[in-house]
Amino acid sequence: MWHILGAGSLGTLWATRLARAGLPVALILRDSARLNSYQQAGGLTLIEQGQPQHYPIPAQTPDHRQPIQRLLLACKAYDAANAVSQLAPRLAPGAEILLLQNGLGSQDEVARAAPQARCIFASSTEGAFRQADFQVVFAGHGHTWLGDPQNLQPPSWLADLQHAGIVHDWSLDILSRLWRKLALNCAINPLTVLHDCRNGELQAHPAQVACLCSELSELLHTCGRSAAAENLHDDVQRVIQATAANYSSMHQDVRQGRRTEIAYLLGYACDAAQRHQLVLPYLQALHSQLLARLAARGLPSH
Ligand code: NAP
Repeated sequence: MWHILGAGSLGTLWATRLARAGLPVALILRDSARLNSYQQAGGLTLIEQGQPQHYPIPAQTPDHRQPIQRLLLACKAYDAANAVSQLAPRLAPGAEILLLQNGLGSQDEVARAAPQARCIFASSTEGAFRQADFQVVFAGHGHTWLGDPQNLQPPSWLADLQHAGIVHDWSLDILSRLWRKLALNCAINPLTVLHDCRNGELQAHPAQVACLCSELSELLHTCGRSAAAENLHDDVQRVIQATAANYSSMHQDVRQGRRTEIAYLLGYACDAAQRHQLVLPYLQALHSQLLARLAARGLPSH
């Protein structure tokens, strides 16, 4: 049984594909009010190439008593540890938790909240967004890397993902992948918020992007993640061009007045620099400016 916590964008994308492959899936929703709304909707809807498909997947609240062997954690990074703490009494011996959160920091928080479970980290380039409650659009096909820094042995259920058409690879260095994605995010997303622009418009600010990439590379080397620093600036420029027409996820969050994952992205990078007594003036200034912008909009700094 796949227990999936969070029926948001990624939770729905995973739940519906696993369910249509005939695998047993149960959703865990926040509380009985959310469960009631879900039951009124009658299930999840996944929209692919404009075609909606409906999946009446069973759902429960966190206080349900069914033991959990395999948990897909599909909430935001700032909700992850609390969500797992709530479920800790239900985790069976040898339970596994698959963590879909972007950025870094939440993985350690979850591992502390559930020390008895095996935590498998994921980094995904798939894209999905909520069109309405329990209705999700599969916006971008991509790839998901999975890995466990503590145990390089792949789990037996990777075949389930294959069967469900979830394109993935087992990574022997998932932390480098997460660091690389974090660095790309730090070089692009905060600037799009500060300049209030699409990704492509950062081409008008080449010096800022170059300074950030240089400091982020220094940080990655210092943190022992040299592989993640390779050709970072080239890759950032490639992403800016390839996604020129898009608004970054952080830009969308800020524009829509939603809490951002800043503490697990730029905030995590600045904390890591401080731990290593590394002075990175552009990165620190960017962090301060972003915090000020969030505060001005009444959004939290963490
Ligand atoms: P999302 O659409 O906001 O969904 C998060 C879901 O988690 C919401 O449905 C929320 O419930 C639920 N949740 C939070 N706390 C919960 C709890 N204690 N119990 C039950 N449910 C709980 O977020 P998302 O876009 O799927 O993102 C999830 C993670 O994946 C993030 O770290 C994000 O950065 C990463 N990611 C997303 C994408 C993407 O394309 N969306 C791509 C790559 C990575 P409510 O509905 O009740 O608020």
